[in-house]
Amino acid sequence: MEKIGPRDWVPAASVRFYEEQAAKYRTMPARDFAGEVERTLAAHERYTDLDCINLYAGTNFMNPRAARFQASSVGSRPSLGYPGDKYETGLGYAEQIEIMAVELIKRIFKCEYVEFRVGSGSLANLYAYMACTKPGDKIMALPVAAAGHVTHHAEGAAGLYGLEIHQIPFDGDRMEVDLDRLRQEARQLRPKLIILGASLALQPYPVREVRQLADEIGAYLMFDAAHLSGIIAGGEFQQPLAEGAHLMTCSTYKSFGGPAGGLVLTNDSGVAERLDRIAYPGLTANFDLARTAALVAASSDILEFGPAYARACIANARALAAALAGEGLPVHGPAVKGYTLSHHVAVQAAPFGGGTTASRRLEPANILTSGIGLPLPLLENDYNGLRIGTQEITRWGMQPEDMPAIAGLVARILLKGEDPAAVQPEVIALRHRFHSLHYVFTD
Ligand SMILES: *Cc1c(COP(=O)(O)O)cnc(C)c1O
Repeated sequence: MEKIGPRDWVPAASVRFYEEQAAKYRTMPARDFAGEVERTLAAHERYTDLDCINLYAGTNFMNPRAARFQASSVGSRPSLGYPGDKYETGLGYAEQIEIMAVELIKRIFKCEYVEFRVGSGSLANLYAYMACTKPGDKIMALPVAAAGHVTHHAEGAAGLYGLEIHQIPFDGDRMEVDLDRLRQEARQLRPKLIILGASLALQPYPVREVRQLADEIGAYLMFDAAHLSGIIAGGEFQQPLAEGAHLMTCSTYKSFGGPAGGLVLTNDSGVAERLDRIAYPGLTANFDLARTAALVAASSDILEFGPAYARACIANARALAAALAGEGLPVHGPAVKGYTLSHHVAVQAAPFGGGTTASRRLEPANILTSGIGLPLPLLENDYNGLRIGTQEITRWGMQPEDMPAIAGLVARILLKGEDPAAVQPEVIALRHRFHSLHYVFTD
C-alpha cells in the first residue's frame, strides 16, 4: 500500500481516512463528546448486533447480564494481591468475584490453576512464554499458512520477548501437523516450547504425540485455544490439558462468549507459580474486576449450556460448509470429514481476489467475515483464505436447516456477482428472524 505524510509507516488510505474523520473532533466542544459516543454506540449495536449476520470467527454476542456487570463501578476499583490478603482495604465484597471466576473456570476446564487477570489472549501468550522460556530460547509454532497467530511469530509477543521462532511442519492437504517431520526437526533444534493451536482449526491437533516428543527433548507444550476455548469448554473438541499440554491460553470473547480478556490454565504447579508472579507483581498490577464479573456470568453460561452450545456451533459449521460447497464455493479442507470438526469454516479466496477483498465485498450486504492464511499459494496483497465462524449465529438460535439460506446469500455476492447492497435487505430479513439468545441464562 502507498504511504504518505509524517506517519509514513501507516497506509496512505488510513491516513487520509483518519484526517477526514478527525477534523470534526478537533473543534468539537467538550460537552458534546459523550453524546456523540452514545449515538455512535447505539448505531454500532443496531448494525452489528441486530442487522448483521456476523460470521467473523473471533467474536460473539455477550449475555446482556454479563454486559451490565461489565459496566459496574467495581471496574474502576483497584485490587492488588491475593483474596483475603489484599493491599487495598475495602475489597471484602469484590474479592468474592475473583474466587467465583477461578472456581467456575476450574470446573469448566477441569484444571488446577487459573490465571484470569490477563487483559487479552495475546498477553496470555506472553505470560505463557515468560513462564516457560527465556529470551533467546528456540520455540516452534504453526506457520501463518496454518493460521499461526502473530503472537507466535517475530512481529508479535514471541519476537518482542526475544524468542527464536521456528515453524512446525504442516501438511496443507490434510490440514494436519506433519508429525514425522516435526519429530525430526525438533530433535535437532531442541526448542524449549512447542505451540499448537491457531486462528483457524478445522480439526484437533496431535497433542498426545507432541507431548511425548516434548518430554523426550525437554520442551513445554502450550495449546493456544484463543478461538477454541468455547468448544473445548463444552467438551465437544479435544481436551488439550488432559491430552498433555502443559498450559493452555484462551481468549474469553471469541467462542467462549465473555468479555474481551485472556486466561492461562495449567495443572503444573511450577508453571502456575511462575504465572502467578508474572501476573502480580509482574505485569498486571490492578486488573478489571468488572470484566471479571462479566467473565463469571459468561462462564456460568458455559458451565450450564456449554456442551449443547458447542455441539450446535459445530453442527452449524458442518452444515454451512456443505451448503457453501453445494453452491459451488471452494470450501477448503476436503480431507477433513465434512470440511470441519470445529465451529470454523475456510473458503479458498483466490477466485475472489483474496480473503480481505471477499470480506469487504460481503460487508455492504451485512455479512461479516475475515481473511485468513491457508496452506495454498500466496496471493500478492491479500490472504488466500476466507474464514467463517458459527458461534454468534448459533447463540442467536440458527440451526443447520438455516445454513443453506446463508450460503445462498454468500454465493449470490461472491460467485454470481450480485450487488451486495441489493442483497442486504434479504440478509437483514433473515437475521431478524432470530431475536432471542440461546445457551445463556436470562434474567
Ligand atoms: C485471537 C488470537 C489470539 C489473541 O487473542 P486476543 O484476545 O485477541 O489478544 C491469540 N492466539 C490466537 C490463535 C488467536 O486467534
